[in-house]
Amino acid sequence: MSQQGYVAAPPYSQAQPGMGAYQGGFGSGPTQPLYGHYGGPPQAFSAPPAGMMKSSVAPAASMPLSPGSSQYNPNVQQNGSHPQSYPAPPAVSAPYGQPPHSLYNSMASPGQPPTQQLTNQMSSMNLGSHGKFSMCSFYFLVQGLQSPPPPASSVMPPGLQSPHMSPLMSPPQSPPASMPMASQSMAGTSMAGIGRPFPGPPPPGPGGFQQPGLGSAGQPGYPQQAGQFGGYMAGPQQNMPGAFPGAQSAMAGPQSAMAGPPQKKLDPDSIPSITHVIEDDQVKQGGQVFTTNIRGQVPPLVTTDFTVTDQGKKCISKLFFMLCQRVLNKQCEDTLSSVRELIYLSLFSVQTPLYVVNHGDTGPVRCNRCKAYMCPYMQFIDGGRRYQCGFCNCVNEVPVFYFQHLDHMGRRVDFYERPELSLGSYEFVATLDYCKNNKPPNPPAYIFMIDVSYNNIKSGLVKLICDELKTLLEKLPREEGMETSAIKVGFVTYNKVLHFYNVKSALAQPQMMVVSDTAEMFVPLLDGFLVNYQDSRAVIYNLLDQIPDMFADTAESETVFAPVIQAGVEAFKAAECSGKLFIFQSSMPTAEAPGKLKNRDDKKLVNTDKEKTLFQPQKGVYEQLSKDCVASGCCVDLFLFPSQYTDIATMADVPSHTGGSVYKYSNFQIETDGEHFLRDLRKDVQKSIGFDAIMRVRTSTGFRATDFFGGIYMNNTTDVEMAAVDCDNGVTVEFKHDDTLSEETGALMQCALLYTTIGGQRRLRIHNLSLNCSSQLSELYKSCETDSLINFFAKSAYRAILNQPLKNVREILVNQTAHMLACYRKNCASPSAASQLILPDAMKVFPVYMNSLMKTAPLVGSTELSTDDRAHQRLSVMAMGVEDTQLLLYPRLIPLHNIDVNSEKPATPVRCSEERLTDSGIFLLENGQSMFLWLGQASSPDLIQSLFNLPSLAHLQGHMCALPELDNPLSRKVRSIISGLLEKRSNSMKLQIVRQKDKPEMLFRQFLVEDKGLHGGASYMDFLCYVHREIRQLLT
Ligand SMILES: [Zn+2]
Repeated sequence: MSQQGYVAAPPYSQAQPGMGAYQGGFGSGPTQPLYGHYGGPPQAFSAPPAGMMKSSVAPAASMPLSPGSSQYNPNVQQNGSHPQSYPAPPAVSAPYGQPPHSLYNSMASPGQPPTQQLTNQMSSMNLGSHGKFSMCSFYFLVQGLQSPPPPASSVMPPGLQSPHMSPLMSPPQSPPASMPMASQSMAGTSMAGIGRPFPGPPPPGPGGFQQPGLGSAGQPGYPQQAGQFGGYMAGPQQNMPGAFPGAQSAMAGPQSAMAGPPQKKLDPDSIPSITHVIEDDQVKQGGQVFTTNIRGQVPPLVTTDFTVTDQGKKCISKLFFMLCQRVLNKQCEDTLSSVRELIYLSLFSVQTPLYVVNHGDTGPVRCNRCKAYMCPYMQFIDGGRRYQCGFCNCVNEVPVFYFQHLDHMGRRVDFYERPELSLGSYEFVATLDYCKNNKPPNPPAYIFMIDVSYNNIKSGLVKLICDELKTLLEKLPREEGMETSAIKVGFVTYNKVLHFYNVKSALAQPQMMVVSDTAEMFVPLLDGFLVNYQDSRAVIYNLLDQIPDMFADTAESETVFAPVIQAGVEAFKAAECSGKLFIFQSSMPTAEAPGKLKNRDDKKLVNTDKEKTLFQPQKGVYEQLSKDCVASGCCVDLFLFPSQYTDIATMADVPSHTGGSVYKYSNFQIETDGEHFLRDLRKDVQKSIGFDAIMRVRTSTGFRATDFFGGIYMNNTTDVEMAAVDCDNGVTVEFKHDDTLSEETGALMQCALLYTTIGGQRRLRIHNLSLNCSSQLSELYKSCETDSLINFFAKSAYRAILNQPLKNVREILVNQTAHMLACYRKNCASPSAASQLILPDAMKVFPVYMNSLMKTAPLVGSTELSTDDRAHQRLSVMAMGVEDTQLLLYPRLIPLHNIDVNSEKPATPVRCSEERLTDSGIFLLENGQSMFLWLGQASSPDLIQSLFNLPSLAHLQGHMCALPELDNPLSRKVRSIISGLLEKRSNSMKLQIVRQKDKPEMLFRQFLVEDKGLHGGASYMDFLCYVHREIRQLLT
């Protein structure tokens, strides 16, 4: 069987051959392949994934030179100068994990025999960045070959065993053996309207799930399962249309999910706990230094506080490259396992800046063939006159200006003086070849576009924004070492028409220019529209004072939206700069203009095959706008203040393709939402950001980047374009390995991000990473980074629901969970009773995350959820980094009633389950998006007095959204916990105070993700039992 055969397709987008052979659902439909592909009809394996097929869009006319493009001529070699901004070499010498020449040597040696399929393993030597700056680096998921073997697996407690499942995993089990468990676990499932997830008819699409050709014949892993599984499962399905385990069911309790005979109640503490995993890792690795030069070293969890050093050099504070691996093999055979890797790139995290390297007028030294940038994987030979590229093996001449002698180790003598030779992450100064129209870029601009229609005026929002901008504009981000910000600012107000303002410093009063022809948007003034804040401060102040009064008596309630974005694009084009639009919009644009929207919300579509249309943006105007924005480096941030449906799926389309954010404040009221909004605005305006970016990921032979997820735009299958990239945006990259990899050299990747700094400099940010490879599947499981896996699954599932019924997507998630775990059981775990659920240690909390993902609003078909909220969450997650998805899917629930007010240690969270709440307790819950203070009905009056200065709970007012500032230890402690969290998270959160048994408590309860979902979805315990049963089926 050819290796190419099974690696080809990403799971959600294409048919994958050879993955079939077992029925995905519960047997009612025709056979479906193992792994889902959420996409449409089967495609050729080599076709780009569906998500990248935006190619109907023609390349923009004036695209910047991409890091990958070949316009730059790297062969020019003269110019002996090599200006260096790299500081003096560090005193410490930082050896690599392996001698530098080994790479070259092994490259020269014959490759692995073709039959030896290497499971890709990650791990690596990874490079972070240098002390002065930081930023990148990686987080990988991987554990390396050198790490001490962790406990291989978690064996589930006896409670999860069912006694009648005797033999190990050898002979096929007779289906009835697990029947009691199955039917019973779902007994009492009352399908109250929602979720018909896993089972059900085959997907309607033209063959999305059809059995691809390679089919069952060559499936050593799971022979014959289709029939058995299907037939067997058909029964239970009748009883539980909502096979999403426990979906909306009235589960009698966890124990009922267990084997038939009466059994003592399973201790919830006995199933793997995320809070324990996080805590253990923090204890073990917290506060430690993680160095990037030891190949195969496993990094701490994303939740752990630790320090990273790049190549043993100076410290940086966080890792931002996330890598992970998926075990998605069609055949669970060691020799034929297909593994996908993911890498999550947070290209732009804050911290200290990176070293900047300048190779002079000719630009960065690059490989002639593959265009990879000079990096630690380039092996110098021939006395330093040539170097061999680690990515494509091409031997290149060293440019004269770059020549340096080699030492006795074969290493350049200037090794430690050059970040590009000794570090994982650094930046190159980009030459004019990398600039749009071969001209250096102008500094970026921020345009504030304020909807001054009736709603926004009446709510006081316009005045709030104007007042805030006066101080906020003093804090625009600055280039390192600069006194003031180079960012220009401009102002527009609008309702059905647009008002532009001339705020030139020479003016005594700002001047307004009105454009009422919204169909042909243009910017009526160039000079004086985008200005330096410092120079024009007086005029801008004047303007900001006047705006609320100018529109105080407005009766206009209709707005436009697309023309507002268009105006921003035109302004950037005219000023030849990139930048960001901050749009403050109150409602759906219904005024007669391009991009006018109408209410298309339809709850009747929920749980039908047409539900996906609720998530799909309206095509046409907005599609073209996204393209225009990206071509002009125009990022759009949307602040929405809706009182009803606004078609967020469409309104957020442009922000979600331009690296922008969407903030939503439903039924905005200044008293309760004002501070929350202002915190968001402040963070957003001040955050670290780059513009007009384009990214290319290069890899060594044998594997390649195949799919990208994020707030990005793609015209082709390799160049990832972003109008802006900031510290909160994560791009998840999926890699596929389709040829033999070498255990000796590992797998190399280089990510190059070309962008414009906030000071208007063109830079290339380079991140390098080397991964271990292993032919042992068990190594792969050992190195798995569950947080990254989850980030990937969330993004791919959220993308899939644009094209597929939700129930198919959920079904695929369950199947993938079961298969990854079954594959481990079959190939890596030591023999044990089949009745035991065995989880790889690094993935032991994987099921709880997957279950939580399936219960998120976008994936739950419930008419009780707002369509806009679902669309909003879907789009937010698409651009999230690993830390954010981890927190979103497993919120922190912190008990406050017994907190040690004198302790410096952070409060320890407990599991997200109702069982952890107590009537007399007070808990804080947050997931990065929402924050609740939950008050048990029997809370002690002392506590209430300390926190609220009220005699009892009954005196608590309904709309409180902050704790009063009281001078007692508990109040100070709790407020400091809350403010600490608000500071730390990328979004500000509104504190919602809920009393036990009050109606708003329902909002809080949906975040108790270990419990049965409020709108459908199984409890963690039920899900585990369900997955266990699936695994057993797969292994028979
Ligand atoms: Zn090359």
